[in-house]
Amino acid sequence: MRLTILGSGTCVPYARRGPSGYAVELPGAKIVLDCGSGTTKRLAEAGINYLGVDYLFLSHLHPDHTGDLAAFLFATKYAYGSPWGDRREKPLYLRGGPGFPGFLEALRGVYGDWISPGTLDSGELTEGVYEFEGFALTAVKTPHIDSSLAYRIDHAGKSLVYSGDTEYSEPLIELAQGADVLVVECALPLDSMKRKGHMTLGDVVDTINRSGAKRAVITHLYPACDREDVVGRIKKGTDAEVIGAEDLLAIDV
Ligand SMILES: [Zn+2]
Ligand SMILES: [Zn+2]
Repeated sequence: MRLTILGSGTCVPYARRGPSGYAVELPGAKIVLDCGSGTTKRLAEAGINYLGVDYLFLSHLHPDHTGDLAAFLFATKYAYGSPWGDRREKPLYLRGGPGFPGFLEALRGVYGDWISPGTLDSGELTEGVYEFEGFALTAVKTPHIDSSLAYRIDHAGKSLVYSGDTEYSEPLIELAQGADVLVVECALPLDSMKRKGHMTLGDVVDTINRSGAKRAVITHLYPACDREDVVGRIKKGTDAEVIGAEDLLAIDV
């Protein structure tokens, strides 16, 4: 599996980091997790054929995780002159957590058929294990907003977990047990900046240590996280390998 970070940031405009998006490529399947604004362009910058994306899973419905969904679907329908052809040939399997069908319907209320490529299979995911060709996806609910899910992808004995946005969460720790790579949010650098629905640096360290994840990729970084060197400080709290997410960074799992 290969993880490419498409957006390591948040809603805050920040040249270094775009809003959330991650590509996971494995033999026979291209997966995108979240579609924050700029994700479609970042796919092109990473050299990933967006018309070849098979699966798009949204962690939740906040704008910094869904802002490019309309742009992605529009570009999927009208791909004139793209380096990968003029139209999408493969089906796109699009899923979000509780409430996603209503969200997509509302988006269609604005954009109509412009964002309705004929090859779209959309719907709602709840907690559970889903078997796809070549990989398994496990979804668990996380404490952030009603639609929030964390995901685990298992393929050929390797595992990747994506926290989405979340508070400190026992189900996430359980989901990430022994993960080869844990992509984990760290929105807030200092305990004094604690906000409901997000983890502080200390929460992230505990999540890494209690899950036994082998590598942790620290992401969803507000500018304050860089000013406070959260990645350097998390490294001091764990024996796991800790990597600071950067847009377009690729990691082999
Ligand atoms: Zn959120
Ligand atoms: Zn977010």
